[in-house]
Amino acid sequence: MDKTNITIIGAGICGLATSFILSQKYKDIFVVEQRDSFGRETSSRNSEVIHAGIYYPKNSLKANLCIKGKTLLYDLCKKHNIPHQQLGKILVACDNAEEKTIEGIQRNAAENGVNNLRFLKKGELDTLEPDIKAQKALLCPDTGIVDSHKLMHFFSEKSKNNNVEFAYSIKVINITKKDSEYEITVKEPSGELFLLKQILLLTLVDSMPMKLLQWQALILKKINTKFITAKVNIFALAILKNLKLIISSIHRQALPI
Ligand SMILES: Cc1cc2nc3c(=O)[nH]c(=O)nc-3n(C[C@H](O)[C@H](O)[C@H](O)COP(=O)(O)OP(=O)(O)OC[C@H]3O[C@@H](n4cnc5c(N)ncnc54)[C@H](O)[C@@H]3O)c2cc1C
Repeated sequence: MDKTNITIIGAGICGLATSFILSQKYKDIFVVEQRDSFGRETSSRNSEVIHAGIYYPKNSLKANLCIKGKTLLYDLCKKHNIPHQQLGKILVACDNAEEKTIEGIQRNAAENGVNNLRFLKKGELDTLEPDIKAQKALLCPDTGIVDSHKLMHFFSEKSKNNNVEFAYSIKVINITKKDSEYEITVKEPSGELFLLKQILLLTLVDSMPMKLLQWQALILKKINTKFITAKVNIFALAILKNLKLIISSIHRQALPI
């Protein structure tokens, strides 16, 4: 049975970013990924938006991480020439009820410390985005977009340079906690099972959000997190090809992702 200091399960954006950061400080890092390459699941199927942190409740972990994370991400992208653009986003309200909602979003953002949201003046929306008609529009300058594939490629290459080992096409099927160590059972493409690594440091990183509960239950033998599933519908607006900013109607704000 082989041994390692840190095993990261999953080479999505979270696993890759974690291996990039940890590999600057620690040796013997191992990334196990069931697919044949990195970023083959959620991290390559998202909207690639850098969120500003305006929707999440005050003092929530999501709000704090999102606000700190956007600055770190913009800085990282600038420093390493990872394609990104801080376009800004316009939240549009088409009736009185929606107007109240975006006013609430501005208040929530301010409570989170994001104080640079502002309502566009009369005629300003026409100048910025002539194809968009709205009763009121709120501009959020911090929102942007990033090339998530290039970002993942960057994390993967830097990790490899720091001697992180990547094991692709290997699926973790069980984790057992023994005192302060973990034993990870993995399945090879041939179907063969073996006990892969015994973790010396108690640092196992889970980058599988959808499976978090199952893994928690497996490792800790208890469940203390609420598991919410959601369906997302994304539409492409073929008729509006020349938008310069991100436009958000408020319908989707119930569950921002
Ligand atoms: C429709 C949609 C749009 C989104 N838009 C945005 C957005 O605009 N901005 C934003 O910030 N976020 C967005 N998100 C959220 C973001 O995409 C996720 O939070 C992020 O990709 C999660 O990364 P991850 O590495 O944790 O998960 P994943 O990318 O899912 O990576 C997990 C990895 O673990 C591997 N794995 C799973 N099980 C095993 C196993 N048993 N053994 C070995 N490997 C395993 C998988 O193959 C996968 O590669 C969006 C999400 C969705 C669904």
